[in-house]
Amino acid sequence: MNIKQLCQYDKQHIWHPYTSMLNPSPVFPVASAEGVILTLETGQRLIDGMSSWWTCIHGYNHPVLNQAITDQLQKMSHVMFGGLTHRPAVELAKKLIDLSADNLQHVFFADSGSVAVEVSIKMALQYWVAQNKAEKHKLLTVRNGYHGDTFGAMSVCDPINGMHEMFTHRLAENIFVEAPNCKPNDQWRAEMIADFEQALQSNQEQIAAVILEPIVQNAGGMRIYCAEYLRQVSRLCKQYHVLLILDEIATGFGRTGSLFAYQQADIEPDILVLGKTLTGGYMTLAATLASTKVAKGINADGSGILMHGPTFMANPLACSVANASIDLLLQSNWQQNIANIEQQLKTELAPCATLDIVKDVRCKGAIGIVELHHPVDIFWMQPRFVELGVWIRPFNKLVYLMPPYIIKKQELTKLTQAIYQVMKEYALRKK
Ligand code: PMP
Repeated sequence: MNIKQLCQYDKQHIWHPYTSMLNPSPVFPVASAEGVILTLETGQRLIDGMSSWWTCIHGYNHPVLNQAITDQLQKMSHVMFGGLTHRPAVELAKKLIDLSADNLQHVFFADSGSVAVEVSIKMALQYWVAQNKAEKHKLLTVRNGYHGDTFGAMSVCDPINGMHEMFTHRLAENIFVEAPNCKPNDQWRAEMIADFEQALQSNQEQIAAVILEPIVQNAGGMRIYCAEYLRQVSRLCKQYHVLLILDEIATGFGRTGSLFAYQQADIEPDILVLGKTLTGGYMTLAATLASTKVAKGINADGSGILMHGPTFMANPLACSVANASIDLLLQSNWQQNIANIEQQLKTELAPCATLDIVKDVRCKGAIGIVELHHPVDIFWMQPRFVELGVWIRPFNKLVYLMPPYIIKKQELTKLTQAIYQVMKEYALRKK
């Protein structure tokens, strides 16, 4: 197939994420990727501002990660995890347990973020069934959240603003309060948590767990909130006897400036969900970590079986590359790199705030967000970014950057300049 035929076949036969089969937005065929550069089939080179949906923190085609997979491939690419175990999985579990909060001592490996969220929900529901409190079966969460596209996960995504409104009446009914409305530097006021506390207090007999993305809400609106909110959530969960699930699929492994975002609030979740960056963007793998309280609690009625077991759980190739990725991150100067990226994003995206079409510009760690007043025209904006030699994928009203942590200063400047340029052009088109 030549490039034209390839694109034509793709257009006619392949669904891309969140797109129509009849009127798909344009897709660009990638031939290879190296460092922070995606090379298209046409030979055009794009600087990557997305880390392939926030995963590829060390850049593409990294020799250390390639080696980890190649070494593991010589031994075994996959074995079932029922009744068998292997070194890559045990080593990875130990790393995750050692790096995360002291209370988190047990790991379930899943094959995607959404599935790991399903597992976290199951853990919470089974915990209460085993305590003879099956009536505690609801989840409390905040608006503007996103936790995945499977049915359990969808039931805690923003019910209106999210991507799943059409399924509303097919989903488990959970409890929502407004998204946190404290910005990182706001003076804390008790009223900022009042509706959350009210919902928790009045529904405590029904609530199994609270589920949240800590510090930065991602695909549900790219909102950044203060650590004190999270600290109060943790306190209230203890006070009203509900479990706290933190979904760090997007924020984990440094993205917000600390290894895990919850560390900024100095709290310990009962259940922690990790994914995306876990393998440095190489393979699909996720993990749900649980405290000993939760693991033992599931056993309280004597049965104790956690009812989940995906075919490809703890895939050895994925676990090996995850081990290598975590080592690579910890050996690097990641805190300084992310602090530098944050500073540069703040400075270089600031001019966007002067444009009428822009509602807000905000940054946290290696995340820079330009929020517009209205959803963007992706059919125009996406090819324009490609023309400018950058890979930036806006969604809804959000044009954002989550670059690989290894990005160089000049490369990041190209990304921020492209955003400012495209925003200016877009503002003129909208006049
Ligand atoms: N939770 C969060 C916070 C996410 O950002 C995502 C993915 N964007 C998911 C869950 C779902 O992960 P996956 O796409 O791997 O199923």
